[in-house]
Amino acid sequence: MNDPIRISEVIQHLESIAPLSYQESYDNSGLITGDPQEHVRGVLVTLDCTEPVVEEAIASGCNLIVAHHPIVFKGLKRLTGANYVERVVIKAIRAQVAIYAIHTNLDNVHTGVNRKICDLLGLQNLRILQPRRDTLSKLVTFIPPDHSDVVLNALFGAGAGQIGNYNDCGFTSRGTGTFTPNAQANPAVGHSGVREQVDEVRAEVIFPTHLQDQVMRALFKAHPYEEVAHYITAVSNENQEVGSGMVGDLPSPVEPMEFLRGLKDMLGVQVIRATQIIEKPISRVAVCGGAGSFLLKKAIQSGAQVFISADFKYHDFFDADGRIIVADIGHYESEVHTKQLLVDVLIKKFPTFAINFSKTVTNPISYI
Ligand SMILES: [Zn+2]
Repeated sequence: MNDPIRISEVIQHLESIAPLSYQESYDNSGLITGDPQEHVRGVLVTLDCTEPVVEEAIASGCNLIVAHHPIVFKGLKRLTGANYVERVVIKAIRAQVAIYAIHTNLDNVHTGVNRKICDLLGLQNLRILQPRRDTLSKLVTFIPPDHSDVVLNALFGAGAGQIGNYNDCGFTSRGTGTFTPNAQANPAVGHSGVREQVDEVRAEVIFPTHLQDQVMRALFKAHPYEEVAHYITAVSNENQEVGSGMVGDLPSPVEPMEFLRGLKDMLGVQVIRATQIIEKPISRVAVCGGAGSFLLKKAIQSGAQVFISADFKYHDFFDADGRIIVADIGHYESEVHTKQLLVDVLIKKFPTFAINFSKTVTNPISYI
């Protein structure tokens, strides 16, 4: 018999893939209702958490809903059931169904919403359209030479030193450290009151800022000194693994109309709202699941011939200005494949309880 899994463990796994700190400032990703200490009986994965979805969870014995869009976005001042948001929350709490949202943090990771669209379209050489800058830190620490491998391995094991396709990235140099232990010290090297000069390795590693606690725990555990000399600095480099939108190349160029027809088939889209077709073969494709007009400039700069996104307004289409084809495929249609991504991520890690696709079509838009 396997140990029961707590909701908190599922959350921990999801946030190891899409850290909460990567969500946009206006967002409300995370646990919205429910007790993280409850045991998971089953998970229902959905794009939106509507009343029918909560009912589906109850009927199928699932006590955790993992939704892309947070049902509570702004603050709730009362819970009377006056609108669908309040009714969903009341129903979920009454039935002890937890609701967890994984929204812009999943948009912003290179294995997230946009990656799923790129994979479905068979794009290659994937890059983030607008990489984030505020997500990396650098640790510098000073280690006795015979411990430098152990400490570096511990740092790498905690998630430091990963750059693109390269793991265990770091830099070391040799030098001399000095210190005088005071009377209360219990030094690994030297004696109280005596100035020491020791051979040391200066080690430098980059790490994602959200991993700082675990990187520091690993450092203190592996380092032999009582007082571990170190400093952490924010790094303003672009993080190529975190940010908005994605761009990639087709294996071979395709005529625009052929590409758009294929796009409808591949993503199950009924209607594309597109700008005037530019009669040039499509070889590079930019994508942004959900509302993506804010990335139009980046899409043009990337050299893409088409930008697949959603929620373009009338005037946004003008901004394409004959330089790119905007293909607005619909918000729901651009993100519905995220369900598959989440189911795959959960099944791989948690084989002991049911992980179900919601069968409820939550698209609020119908095409007449
Ligand atoms: Zn969305």
